[in-house]
Amino acid sequence: MAQLLITHGYVVTVDAERRVFPDGWISVDEDRISGLGPMETVPVPGEGVQVIDAGGKVVIPGLVNGHNHHWGSLFKNTGEGLLLEPWLDKITLPLGAQLSNDDLRIAAYLGAIEQIRTGTTCSLNHAVNNNDADSMRAIIEPVLDMGIRQLVTKEMRNTPNPPFSDRHEARPHVRGLDDELALAEEIIDTWDGSGGLVHMGLAIETGANWMLHNATSDQLIEQGVALAQRRNLKITNHCSAGTPWLSIDEFGKATGGGDVDYLVRLGALVDNWVLIHALHLKEREIAAVAGSGASVISNPVSNAYSSDGIAPLKEMFEAGINVGLGTDGTYVNCSADMVEQMKFTALIHNVTHLDPTLMSAERVIEMATINSARALGLGDQIGSLEVGKKADIAIFDLGKAHTSVPNRLVGALVFSAHGTDVDAVIINGEPRLLNGELVGFDSEQEVLAEARRRAADAIERAGLTDDIFVHWQK
Ligand SMILES: [Zn+2]
Repeated sequence: MAQLLITHGYVVTVDAERRVFPDGWISVDEDRISGLGPMETVPVPGEGVQVIDAGGKVVIPGLVNGHNHHWGSLFKNTGEGLLLEPWLDKITLPLGAQLSNDDLRIAAYLGAIEQIRTGTTCSLNHAVNNNDADSMRAIIEPVLDMGIRQLVTKEMRNTPNPPFSDRHEARPHVRGLDDELALAEEIIDTWDGSGGLVHMGLAIETGANWMLHNATSDQLIEQGVALAQRRNLKITNHCSAGTPWLSIDEFGKATGGGDVDYLVRLGALVDNWVLIHALHLKEREIAAVAGSGASVISNPVSNAYSSDGIAPLKEMFEAGINVGLGTDGTYVNCSADMVEQMKFTALIHNVTHLDPTLMSAERVIEMATINSARALGLGDQIGSLEVGKKADIAIFDLGKAHTSVPNRLVGALVFSAHGTDVDAVIINGEPRLLNGELVGFDSEQEVLAEARRRAADAIERAGLTDDIFVHWQK
């Protein structure tokens, strides 16, 4: 018996046949979609069924953000005018070092609020810093409180001995390799499956910039991959992201190849990987990723903000790689709006190739839904509107001034709408946003105020106040 019935929506299923019901319905039973189709087939709602009239609205699978660092929500607009490497070293790493667990907690709330309010129902949260059991609790509890879905990837670090590079100091990590692996398993066992919303995975840096920071050892990559394979976990990183003439060049000279070449050499390129960015891949590296079954998450707004490159998506699609979409931490994007990411992705690739057919509205919607879901290992549960899948649904109101004559609705969603046009969000069968208002959470204003205060305090503690609060940059 359904408890929720969405009626008269323009339903874009993104299922295998890519069905669209221009006047359609969806029913939700507990946490799953129990039925959908054209309005001619709508069931009569039983007593107590909550009916959501989606007339004039577009109903899509909840958007899936394949790469985010939720603590970045405290530090938007702090990296303008900086390439990735100086931005990391001068701004982001010093700020990250300041964060208490209470800061992480409020950032997690803020990240969840922004995502629900822009139609995102699931994200991969690459939890950075030397996270321990307490900091992971601070990150995950707000996720459960807000009722949003996440793949939380516990980051692991291990200092190489001898150091990979003398570019950055090789400070010993707080835990040895065996303890780091054991802690990861303990945290996974504690949280995986919580609330039907939390999915656990691993994060191990393998990219040029992080190897030069001595953040990762070959042993950690090898043993982390073994752990991911043994426990059937997704494992994520940052891959081939950096300025061509800085970290990418230096890593190439040190190793004779690129980031993917390095994983291949270690025998560590497996289908558990969710490779993030993948900007500067050579043809042989694209072929290796395709052959491995690993997925890629592209973050074109983040890459443009740092001006470090445009991912070879055309070549990746031609090679058959599953490519999803993400924002990256909002400190290097300034927005978690996945609608904005879809528009930018289509435009930047089409103009780069002088081909307006390359990235259609349909293709970027696929990237932001089913492709990202598959990358996160959740393709059989979310990413499309199908009977039996989890009820993660976003309903966008295209009746506002800027979308009031949408003509072609799928195109309007990508090219005219904004994430904030979302009117209703259902996650795991539960309405979390209705009529544009959060459901079951009444502390939004308090979270926003505390986030502003905590961000300013952290910036001051890091000694960056004068660098960041600039009124007019000359
Ligand atoms: Zn990132």
